[in-house]
Amino acid sequence: MDVYLPRTLAEALEVKARRPEAVPIAGGTDVMVAINFHRLRPDAVVDLSRLPELRQWREEDGAVFVGAGMTYARLVRELSWCVPLAQAARTVGSPQIRNRGTLGGNVGTASPAGDTLPVLAAHDAEVVLGRAGGRVRALPWDQFFLGPKQTALAPDELVLGVRWRRLRGPGSFLKVGTRNAMVIAVASLCLVVDEVGRAVRVALGSVGPTVLRAPEAERFAAEQMQRAGAWDDPRAALSDAVVEEFGERVAAAARPIDDVRGSAAYRRHACAVLARRALRWALGDRRLAG
Ligand SMILES: Cc1cc2nc3c(=O)[nH]c(=O)nc-3n(C[C@H](O)[C@H](O)[C@H](O)COP(=O)(O)OP(=O)(O)OC[C@H]3O[C@@H](n4cnc5c(N)ncnc54)[C@H](O)[C@@H]3O)c2cc1C
Repeated sequence: MDVYLPRTLAEALEVKARRPEAVPIAGGTDVMVAINFHRLRPDAVVDLSRLPELRQWREEDGAVFVGAGMTYARLVRELSWCVPLAQAARTVGSPQIRNRGTLGGNVGTASPAGDTLPVLAAHDAEVVLGRAGGRVRALPWDQFFLGPKQTALAPDELVLGVRWRRLRGPGSFLKVGTRNAMVIAVASLCLVVDEVGRAVRVALGSVGPTVLRAPEAERFAAEQMQRAGAWDDPRAALSDAVVEEFGERVAAAARPIDDVRGSAAYRRHACAVLARRALRWALGDRRLAG
């Protein structure tokens, strides 16, 4: 096996141009598991962990760009203002996994259970991809994640990072598993409120072939907030019946399967519970913020 250890992003992209089959390895917390279990036998790997260009995040004219090489530990520390992302990062694995594992690795693996994916989907993020020669393209999340562990990444490309418009409004990430730590999600959900666009956005993980949005439930929540006057007055309440109905509509957007981690029926139920909880938290946060 050839092991490439580029020191710059340009060098890494040159390797991918010459050896498109070379498997990128960032934290290695997915790649090494696949190699150890003989699911992957690469002829070449290209180590991305030394590339300063991927290990940074920055504000970009109302948007935020987060480099693929940002670890979960750093997301928790440095992006705590993006509450759902910090919450998702905090639930990943153990401290060791959070010190090694990266956002780009989660995006590259594209597991339906990847904890950052609902956060990206709820923020309408785009995935920024690079090729040798400075060629860069950005794909909306729903054009990048194509199915379970399938993405639109071309063999000679690398994920440079993800980018989304910063939102004003509360949000949260919630995850149900068989225990509280070191667990793959049985169902997960990210809800964000966009105060400026007067929208509620909900994304679901682990309940479909890839991350899903719940557009019908989103429309319902925004309309009900409008009807209650809650967009203008955060103290205006939504009735319990409306919150219940919202949960049912979110659950209806799920496309879960039965597997070793949970039944489809349980997953659907979990989506409804998480959705109601997330909406109540968001409404409570809005009331507190006045
Ligand atoms: C014990 C354990 C617990 C875990 N717990 C969780 C959990 O709770 N939640 C969760 O979501 N995940 C969990 N994972 C999975 C894993 O940690 C995450 O998916 C992590 O984000 C992978 O990041 P990495 O940097 O280690 O990726 P790697 O293993 O290095 O790479 C993962 C995939 O992405 C590709 N890749 C990486 N970087 C790039 C790039 N810049 N461009 C193109 N392709 C790239 C690689 O080729 C590979 O296909 C766990 C794993 C372990 C071993």
